[in-house]
Amino acid sequence: MANILVIAEHDGGQLKLATLAAVSFARQVAADTGGTFDILVIGETVGAVAESLRPYGAANVLLADHAQLQHPVADRYARVIEAVAQSRGYGIVVGAASTFTKDILPRAAALLDAGMLSDVVGAHQEAGELIFKRVMYAGNVIATVTLAGDLKFLTIRPAAFAPAVAGSETSPVVPIPLATDQLSSFAEYGGREAKVAGRPDSTEARVVVSGGRAIKNAEDFERLIGGLADALGGAVGSSRALVDSGITPNSLQIGQTGKIVAPDLYLAVGISGAIQHLAGIKDSKVIVAINKDADAPIFEVADYGLVADVYTAVPELTAKLKP
Ligand SMILES: Cc1cc2nc3c(=O)[nH]c(=O)nc-3n(C[C@H](O)[C@H](O)[C@H](O)COP(=O)(O)OP(=O)(O)OC[C@H]3O[C@@H](n4cnc5c(N)ncnc54)[C@H](O)[C@@H]3O)c2cc1C
Repeated sequence: MANILVIAEHDGGQLKLATLAAVSFARQVAADTGGTFDILVIGETVGAVAESLRPYGAANVLLADHAQLQHPVADRYARVIEAVAQSRGYGIVVGAASTFTKDILPRAAALLDAGMLSDVVGAHQEAGELIFKRVMYAGNVIATVTLAGDLKFLTIRPAAFAPAVAGSETSPVVPIPLATDQLSSFAEYGGREAKVAGRPDSTEARVVVSGGRAIKNAEDFERLIGGLADALGGAVGSSRALVDSGITPNSLQIGQTGKIVAPDLYLAVGISGAIQHLAGIKDSKVIVAINKDADAPIFEVADYGLVADVYTAVPELTAKLKP
């Protein structure tokens, strides 16, 4: 039997949809093993996030709400997870793979001397033991592994689990008492640089438009890639070539060493399709490529391809999409 704790992720009081994939994972493992799952919401004045998670079948929605938790300072959040996991005796603590969980969960696992697996894409029980599948080598290998110890920390790939659907029953919200001295930390929150305002995050968006080395400068990127993304209500992304040349910020990079995306529609604009880029987009439902080189490797994975110069094709496409 595995009782599971799901760590909810939110930004400015807005639940990150990937959390519902982690809930889906927890639901499946709890059902397979005869256990239950709880969801933990951490932050300041995040009662509404907890409320929104009540219809997803958790035994409890736990709410760690405290002024010291206004920003996700990793060692504070890790200490909350440590306290909750210790006092309530879970077998698994899980979150959707993201920058947030990469920062926080390994710290919490270390505090509890527990093992950790990242990028899990499947789990099943065999002879009473939980067996996990996880992605390795940029998605080219799927490893089948077990994790020793009574407490396991995991991150799951959101694309591998359909988001949980709300039901009619609601779970109770249970406040977690926290003392201020329990949350003291050597780290203080200094600030956060906002990403491109007004556009969705590429890891959550249904449409992602990405630009590659074909784009010559930041103005062209904003005009061509930003313009097409806006016409489709989508997010923007970029290959590493543009990040390395300073045209796009690191936060836009998609691929093995960037973000992993799984939109309904991925548009690769002037991107060659190097394996390191493909590692970040292979879970996309439909891939469309625009490239002037008919032999570019991206066309081997693209569902639809257009051999054209992006400087003429993209403005034309964007103009046609505008009402
Ligand atoms: C360890 C490691 C990790 C990496 N991680 C990542 C990663 O996370 N993400 C990532 O993206 N890369 C990553 N890379 C880099 C990767 O190998 C490639 O170098 C990079 O993806 C190439 O980017 P690109 O396709 O934009 O550029 P290029 O490979 O130079 O391709 C540009 C494409 O644009 C086309 N083109 C040029 N001009 C036009 C035009 N006017 N109209 C239409 N098409 C045009 C060309 O035909 C070409 O196909 C990594 C590399 C290493 C070694």
